[in-house]
Amino acid sequence: MKLTVIGCGYLGATHAACMAELGHEVLGMDSDIDKVHVLNSGKAPFFERDLDNLLAKHTASGRLKFTASYAEAAEFADLHFIAVGTPQQHGTAAYDLSHLFDAVTKLAPGLTRPAVVAVKSTVPVGTAPRVAEFLREHAPAGDLVQVAWNPEFLRESSAVEDTLRPDRLVLGFNAPRSWAEALLRQAFGKIIEAGTPTIVTDWATAELAKGAANSFLATKISFINAMAEVCEKSGANAAELADILGHDIRIGRRGMRPGLGFGGGCLPKDLGGFITRADELGAGEATGILREADAVNARRRRRVIDLTFEELGTDLRGKRITVWGAAFKPETDDIRDSPALAVAQKLHDLGATVTVTDPKALDNARKLHPELDYADDPIAAVEDADLLLHLTEWPRFTRIDPRQLATRTTSPKVIDARGTLDLDRWRDAGWITRALGRS
Ligand code: NAD
Repeated sequence: MKLTVIGCGYLGATHAACMAELGHEVLGMDSDIDKVHVLNSGKAPFFERDLDNLLAKHTASGRLKFTASYAEAAEFADLHFIAVGTPQQHGTAAYDLSHLFDAVTKLAPGLTRPAVVAVKSTVPVGTAPRVAEFLREHAPAGDLVQVAWNPEFLRESSAVEDTLRPDRLVLGFNAPRSWAEALLRQAFGKIIEAGTPTIVTDWATAELAKGAANSFLATKISFINAMAEVCEKSGANAAELADILGHDIRIGRRGMRPGLGFGGGCLPKDLGGFITRADELGAGEATGILREADAVNARRRRRVIDLTFEELGTDLRGKRITVWGAAFKPETDDIRDSPALAVAQKLHDLGATVTVTDPKALDNARKLHPELDYADDPIAAVEDADLLLHLTEWPRFTRIDPRQLATRTTSPKVIDARGTLDLDRWRDAGWITRALGRS
């Protein structure tokens, strides 16, 4: 089957490569010509496990190509997935849909024969009818262009696996048993045949699905972080509390790790976008719990600042702080709304000299935060530091021997904001340890 993927960032490049892996002939389209060149050379313009392999395999096999031309994309196939960014608008929590409507506007003139436009980007509920109306008016094929909604649940760091073996598929249509449904069932044929739960629903439910899923995940993280605040005051241990709660299958341990909270390109903006849209719809009362989840998340970042004050005093001028972690989570180079960089930036603003290290995200961090210092080696980075902050839980950091590290600093103090350091070992090695979720 021939199909296109319009917008080839973290989601779209992965989707395009995985669709080729499933046997389709895929044309990826992105307005960023540099990205197109990198993708055509069989490489990912960002770090995502296994993606380079798939891109190399299928650009070589000829099943996968990339272009910056809308005309070429419109001509190439009758099924077009849209995966452009829907970031947060400047100054509000609402989604910025300008990339989506730019893509639809530029694709429309080329749609001269029946086509299906399947949107994967995360949007506020109510966007699908606007896209459909626009295409009906502006595509030469008019009514013969059908719109489908196909929200994406992949997680960066396991995006390829999540795309090839998703835990569910959601397909939203405005008409039952449409041609759009037939085409999408064909595109996802192997995944559906593998027994993946496939929910066919209306546009609105499909649009809401992603925002609701991320709102739940954010709330789950903030729930255990709210418990962590109580643990810090009461002498309890939030990680062990999470273990205890997690054994209840109605609760579950996954996605419930106390720590510095959530960040990234999706959870924070989807939470904000969901709340904003619910307000617009007159359902604002329903989102009180989500506002609180957001507030708890912000407090975790402040807690690390407070612990820093407790260790170094409130005047941070002249203090040297090493931060382990820049990516918003391990196994990605994505620094969008990274909790680690937010804390690093705040400490810099308070006068500290902050040196950041990260296995994959340093290039991105350097571009966004040129005011911070950077180091490649996490061990050398602690030299002369007054304090070490563990803010992104890369396995590489967890494996470092605290005994060896203690010999590199005259101020062996660490704050573990992610709960993955073996603090007993660190204390035995002479470190003063502080952590989130423990007194
Ligand atoms: P991204 O910023 O990495 O990628 C967006 C891509 O779209 C970029 O390559 C950009 O150049 C391209 N683009 C922008 N405007 C364009 C246009 N008019 N025409 C063609 N290309 C254009 O973003 P992302 O993380 O891949 O997210 C994309 C969408 O998928 C968002 O709505 C996001 O919420 C959603 N999503 C992302 C993930 C994830 O883990 N990253 C998971 C599920 C859903």
